[in-house]
Amino acid sequence: MQFTRLRLNGFKSFVDPTDLVIQRGLTGVVGPNGCGKSNLLEALRWVMGENRPTAMRGGGMEDVIFAGTARRPARHFAEVSLTVDNADRLAPAGFNDAGVIEIVRRITRDAGSAYKAQGRDVRARDVQMLFADASTGAQSPALVRQGQISELISAKPKARRRILEDAAGIAGLYQRRHEAELK
Ligand code: ATP
Ligand code: MG
Repeated sequence: MQFTRLRLNGFKSFVDPTDLVIQRGLTGVVGPNGCGKSNLLEALRWVMGENRPTAMRGGGMEDVIFAGTARRPARHFAEVSLTVDNADRLAPAGFNDAGVIEIVRRITRDAGSAYKAQGRDVRARDVQMLFADASTGAQSPALVRQGQISELISAKPKARRRILEDAAGIAGLYQRRHEAELK
């Protein structure tokens, strides 16, 4: 699976619709401090199902919505869309009949967030599983936040083990086992 496109609308500092084409190979994002480089990675994490406000550097999930500036009013919603090339058909069942997968997450003030895959409503869990199985999940070590390396060094063994399990792509299995045990 390969990310091919990331689109943002009203997400953090990206108030105007922004369309990023991600090509094969290395992609670099450069710009001055505060221009939104980290916000881009957070958008990626968010559309894959991140639900911890702290991981988005916010106090609540609605903090990802453009908060307004002196010249522009705040927005009522934020939307991020991620397009994934699934030509290798590695996506889990339910997704792997499609060569291209488009996931959209939208949050509306006071109404929470909702996901769509291929234009259909899906649960947060479906999206989280899709990416957890591909070892790119919202909390996967494939995404390294600023300051995360020093956190890793000082992490407790249990937390460090989680990171290794995520890297091995078995996080989704743990979630499924947990759900099976509850049934
Ligand atoms: P650095 O080089 O310092 O790491 P960066 O390019 O990673 O900077 P970000 O941290 O992505 O920059 O962007 C920070 C900017 O995003 C700040 O100007 C902040 O005000 C803005 N921002 C964050 N959340 C929102 C929001 N909800 N609404 C509007 N702007 C926001
Ligand atoms: Mg940054």
